[in-house]
Amino acid sequence: MRADLKVLMIEDNPDIVESVSLVLKLRWPEARLVGAAEGGQGLAMVRSESPDLIILDLGLPDMDGFKVLEEIRSFTDKPIIILTARTGEMDRLKGLEMGADDYITKPFSHTELLARMRAVLRRAERFRLNGEIKPFITPHLSIDFANRTVIRDGQPVRLTPTEYNLLSYLVMNEGVVLTHRALLEKVWGEQYVGATDYLKVYIQRLRNKLERDPYAPEMFLTERGIGYKFVRPS
Ligand code: CA
Repeated sequence: MRADLKVLMIEDNPDIVESVSLVLKLRWPEARLVGAAEGGQGLAMVRSESPDLIILDLGLPDMDGFKVLEEIRSFTDKPIIILTARTGEMDRLKGLEMGADDYITKPFSHTELLARMRAVLRRAERFRLNGEIKPFITPHLSIDFANRTVIRDGQPVRLTPTEYNLLSYLVMNEGVVLTHRALLEKVWGEQYVGATDYLKVYIQRLRNKLERDPYAPEMFLTERGIGYKFVRPS
């Protein structure tokens, strides 16, 4: 991991911030934690501090956490882990749909948090070394793997690291059905092989951003009960 890792924690409970800060000092000394107790301040700090990773509490005093998430995603693709006391499936999926890379439910163990932080950072780094892979170019969609840029109908599209990694893996295996397990293991990491709901949400996110009609996909095809396949757009 990088030596100068900066983590921004947007969380109004000072006890949680303090305990996470302490755990990082002991178990991950290369990581430095900066904290914001409110959503507005957190948004300002995402810009001023440019953190490598953001941990976002959904229950904030001044703003709805989902709103904060939406605003962060409007200008950066930095990895975000949401921290929530809400355990409902809807909230979980809504967070992922809105661009979070992962979520943790409170109360959480520090070991769990550290494992998730390492996993999302690994994902953000993954596929960086594929400069030798030829760009994928079609009139509708182009991907320059060397520069991690995606162009749809002539317009650049911003993808989160996880979206980009999933897209890259699918495109590099064009025409091949990739199983849920293979996709989760390759893109998310070994500990996520059973998390098919993550995959479903992210496939839909790619469809929303890249398909002409997200509900009649031409590129990201479902192989029911098996996995997904990427097909070159016409
Ligand atoms: Ca809170």
